[in-house]
Amino acid sequence: MSLPNCERFGFTAEKIKERLALLQLGDRDRELAGRLQQEVIVPKFPQIMNEFMAAIVDQPEAQLILTDDDIKKRVKHTITTFLLSLGSGFDSAKYFEHRLHVGLAHEKVGLSLSLYLCAYRCLTQSIINQFPDSIRSEQRHYEKLVEFLYKVNALDMSLAIDTFHGSQVQVLQARQEQLRLKAITDSLTGLVNHDHVFSELERAMQNAKLSEQPLCVIMTDIDYFKKVNDNHGHQAGDAVLIDVARRIKASLRELDIVGRYGGEEFMLILHETPLDVATRIAERIRLKIADHPINLTDLILHITMSFGVSLARPDDTVETLVKRADDALYAAKHGGRNQVVVGK
Ligand code: GH3
Ligand code: MG
Ligand code: MG
Repeated sequence: MSLPNCERFGFTAEKIKERLALLQLGDRDRELAGRLQQEVIVPKFPQIMNEFMAAIVDQPEAQLILTDDDIKKRVKHTITTFLLSLGSGFDSAKYFEHRLHVGLAHEKVGLSLSLYLCAYRCLTQSIINQFPDSIRSEQRHYEKLVEFLYKVNALDMSLAIDTFHGSQVQVLQARQEQLRLKAITDSLTGLVNHDHVFSELERAMQNAKLSEQPLCVIMTDIDYFKKVNDNHGHQAGDAVLIDVARRIKASLRELDIVGRYGGEEFMLILHETPLDVATRIAERIRLKIADHPINLTDLILHITMSFGVSLARPDDTVETLVKRADDALYAAKHGGRNQVVVGK
């Protein structure tokens, strides 16, 4: 059986057991659950429902939500299902799944947690008010049923709080992750931005030192890019940057990093890569750009790039390592562009 809500909110068999133990709900309560349904809820269902609805519809917040008959009908349907399953199989994952679903459904509708919890209390009171005389006259039986009702009510409320709180936390976490990604991403190319690629390089250098693995950096820059803008417009320039970024990214392994270092300059970090391999990778990317013109809507552009490669040395700082790659890139530009130069 699929239990998506239990899974989402971490209700494993172990956690279900824990929650039941906390509320002192045990095996002997199963019989009480059956009696509560048979002796109270089922025979007095219309009265319980009417009393509950009367208590709820007067609340200003409920009035904002219960705006038309269709919504009232749906709410009544939900409460019917809720009431007719109240306590039945309270110790099963299926019961938890359903109660978590109810909590989520109310959170989606926009019901506040406070109104939601007040409704539980009203429902419990409406049930107690409808206890038949046959139960009221038997003091011990009455007390046991009331005690069970309060325990199962607390279980339902605790699950509602879990879903309410849990789903809001999940939304916040997702938003936080979106913001984090936005902060490290270059919006044009989708690559990581200058600051992030720089901090990734710091981390990569520390790791390389600890693991004694080679680490290489490639700086690459589009040749005569200014001409693309001047001759074809800024939008064509942007399209070239997007295409070049995609091609570089596609040429690397998942674990390597490429960031947009500046306007039309990119930094590549190659983990566990010796200098000869890094040089071959740079050469491969150079050909991938130079040999395959970029197809824009009504324009074909021949682009080339220059590359500077450097291998991290034990005494390097991020600045000295990047400077060596930059100097090599500068030499590649001066050597005629469209070439790879290794930093000395
Ligand atoms: P070189 O071969 O020496 O690298 O020459 P270049 O023309 O590529 O270099 P230069 O530094 O003179 O020009 C870079 C140009 O890149 C200038 C700038 O307007 C452009 N540029 C920077 N960022 C962007 C961007 O986001 N979009 C576009 N379309 N152009 C950009
Ligand atoms: Mg350039
Ligand atoms: Mg440049």
